[in-house]
Amino acid sequence: MEWRNASDRLRCFACGCECDGGRLDPCPSCGGNGIVISAADELAIVDWMT
Ligand SMILES: [Zn+2]
Repeated sequence: MEWRNASDRLRCFACGCECDGGRLDPCPSCGGNGIVISAADELAIVDWMT
């Protein structure tokens, strides 16, 4: 099974930018914390079906 490195869509609390990355990654612009607004593929499918 090949692991694909899907990225979550994040929005930064501090500067408001949106970026793709792991949910624990800091904001690439300011290094602040963000929230996941759109999860990576497998998780997103689960979210949409609930
Ligand atoms: Zn930021």
